[in-house]
Amino acid sequence: MHAESISPGAVKTEEQHRRDICAVGGWMHERGYVASTDGNISVRLGPDRILTSPTCMSKGMMTPDDLVVTDLEGRRVGGSRKASSELPMHLLIYRLRPDVNAVCHAHPPVATGFAAAGLALDKPILCELVMGLGCIPLARYGTPGTSELTAAVEPFVRDHNAILMANHGVVTYGADLLTAFQRMESAEHFANVALVTELLGKQVMLSGGDLEKLVEAKARYTSGSQAAAAAAEPKTPAPPRGDATERITLTRRELEALIDEALEKDRARR
Ligand SMILES: [Zn+2]
Repeated sequence: MHAESISPGAVKTEEQHRRDICAVGGWMHERGYVASTDGNISVRLGPDRILTSPTCMSKGMMTPDDLVVTDLEGRRVGGSRKASSELPMHLLIYRLRPDVNAVCHAHPPVATGFAAAGLALDKPILCELVMGLGCIPLARYGTPGTSELTAAVEPFVRDHNAILMANHGVVTYGADLLTAFQRMESAEHFANVALVTELLGKQVMLSGGDLEKLVEAKARYTSGSQAAAAAAEPKTPAPPRGDATERITLTRRELEALIDEALEKDRARR
């Protein structure tokens, strides 16, 4: 029913953005990230125009005409349906992050389980996640659709690209919709891996030295001014106290191979 792929990039016609939002809604529904009418997706169309999914509708059943256009204050300027009550959270992110052009909010069960358990996803156990998202912090609970929720999320928006919301779900965002969606996938994948380590009763953290190398490797692969920004990014989890000398089971060569593979994948996605 919906597209099986969408192209990267934020410069598209409004019609294409409409189709892309419907495609991502379908993917979130298929993957079980949303149930019933949960979740919401938006794209920045222009300086004061946001295209967003409607409330009270399955995100797997939307058609391009169901979408709503609002201004940055959330006032409807196009479409006949009502925008989601969680739109203010999207608008906050657009206001604080001029680099962001798309936002996804969903309730993927494992990541949301961590959020409901009061646990952030902030342990450096996966090199790809350290490279891609850094840690995923936990914002305190706020009633959906109220200023409580936006106030709870606000402190994390500038320095992170994915946030767990206590007893609620996950919000991810990026320069384009494909990136925002893939960050939702990464967050849920990381939550699954973290859960397995909890079940196994053992987590081996990457050491402080390994994390430094990851940040350096990320900077090497990021060009120009982006490189300096990446090196200075505060998103990488701090080296775990007391674990910095813990022996990990990867050799340096294996770790470097993993990093290179992650970087290649990351570059291919851009
Ligand atoms: Zn929600």
